[in-house]
Amino acid sequence: MPLHILTEAERCLQCKKPMCQEGCPVHTPIPQVIQLFKEHKLLDAGEMLFANNPLSAICAEVCNHAKQCAGHCIRGRKDSPVHFSSIEKYISEMYLERMHASVPLKRNDKKVAVIGSGPAGITVAVVLAREGYHVTIFEWKSKIGGVMQYGIPEFRLPKSIIDTYEKRLEEFGIQIRLNATIGSVLMIDELFRDGYASVFVGTGAERPRTLGVRGESFGNVHFAMNYLTNPKAHHLGDKVAVIGVGNAAMDVARSALRNGSKEVTLYAMGKEIAASSSEVAYAQLDGAEIETGMQIQEITERGPVFKRTIYGENDEIIGAEDELIQVDADSTIIAISQVPRGKLVRTTSGLTAAENGLLIVDENYMTTREGVFAAGDVVTGAKTVVHAVDGAKKAAAAMMRYMESK
Ligand SMILES: Cc1cc2nc3c(=O)[nH]c(=O)nc-3n(C[C@H](O)[C@H](O)[C@H](O)COP(=O)(O)OP(=O)(O)OC[C@H]3O[C@@H](n4cnc5c(N)ncnc54)[C@H](O)[C@@H]3O)c2cc1C
Ligand code: SF4
Repeated sequence: MPLHILTEAERCLQCKKPMCQEGCPVHTPIPQVIQLFKEHKLLDAGEMLFANNPLSAICAEVCNHAKQCAGHCIRGRKDSPVHFSSIEKYISEMYLERMHASVPLKRNDKKVAVIGSGPAGITVAVVLAREGYHVTIFEWKSKIGGVMQYGIPEFRLPKSIIDTYEKRLEEFGIQIRLNATIGSVLMIDELFRDGYASVFVGTGAERPRTLGVRGESFGNVHFAMNYLTNPKAHHLGDKVAVIGVGNAAMDVARSALRNGSKEVTLYAMGKEIAASSSEVAYAQLDGAEIETGMQIQEITERGPVFKRTIYGENDEIIGAEDELIQVDADSTIIAISQVPRGKLVRTTSGLTAAENGLLIVDENYMTTREGVFAAGDVVTGAKTVVHAVDGAKKAAAAMMRYMESK
């Protein structure tokens, strides 16, 4: 919608101290990008965005703008904020199509292995390849993208963007090995044996957290990540209960409604809703209902069983009523976040995770195994695309310092 974004660009005050930039986890140089856009220097604006955040085309679609750039924009104090994400989407998508992605002329002789092709892995691969390193990505699944490919639904993030990324990665000279799990046939030790100068772990947090109640193994009960990997393959029936109210739960509800279910209710234990306000609004617009104050007790063949929450003076949860409430549902989906898989830690000597499964890293993003770095959800726990990019950029810088010192 070019007219709208031109109006938005004109509304930007070019603040000396841009609060929008401070509110962005990767500090996107928003006023400079808007200025280049107004001067019709779209490729320069695109390169500025890409160099700062290789996933700007994705972030423009999926970031929580109301909490980040738009939420901090000075114009939002009296009026509506500048909607930079629409401008960013226009520029970044155009740049991704037209950018000149090629192998850099000056290449060094160092090889880097990147495990995982989610936002963290792609960011490290792009940053290092553009600096002349020989990068190979190892990806367990048959397509790149991590949660962007197998979690966030098509109606929120068209998968064609990820296909375009794959082409650009190859043009940068990045080699991609699909269906290749590190920690199974190949181990990290073998990567070092084969001459990789350092290894990046961006394996995310994809293992569903369980409720720990009876009934989780029933045939009509699914975990959010398993369902979202291929919603069309599931036949949930008319009535669906979703346990959890985070962004993944909203994606489940909206996908279920788009795939034929008629009544979808999401259940929260307390009053707090973890998902972003815009995702909640869209889920409700699509027809999902949210019920708060419901504590899951078990899942029977008929559906989930709850107890009502008892709150204290400040709305904190202090207990549950005695009465059991049986909800009838054709399917129940458990969407209460994810944790990292333990495979890599179990198969790599010297690699340590904390009790919650997250990899331990130092201030330079190096894990407890020398030469092995990590960032993204595997270090922070389930977070966001832009936070994975932020950590990955810092890890890539530290990897270069490490490899140059060798
Ligand atoms: C349903 C859902 C919706 C979300 N919606 C949003 C949103 O709207 N906005 C937002 O900003 N964030 C959202 N997020 C969060 C965001 O997607 C994640 O924070 C982000 O993808 C983390 O990136 P990552 O690179 O660390 O890990 P991932 O995206 O999980 O990628 C990890 C990759 O590593 C691969 N892998 C794992 N182990 C191995 C191995 N041993 N060998 C080889 N490959 C391996 C995996 O197959 C995967 O491709 C959502 C998350 C979910 C689950
Ligand atoms: S805070 Fe708003 S008005 Fe100021 S530079 Fe950022 S987008 Fe422009």
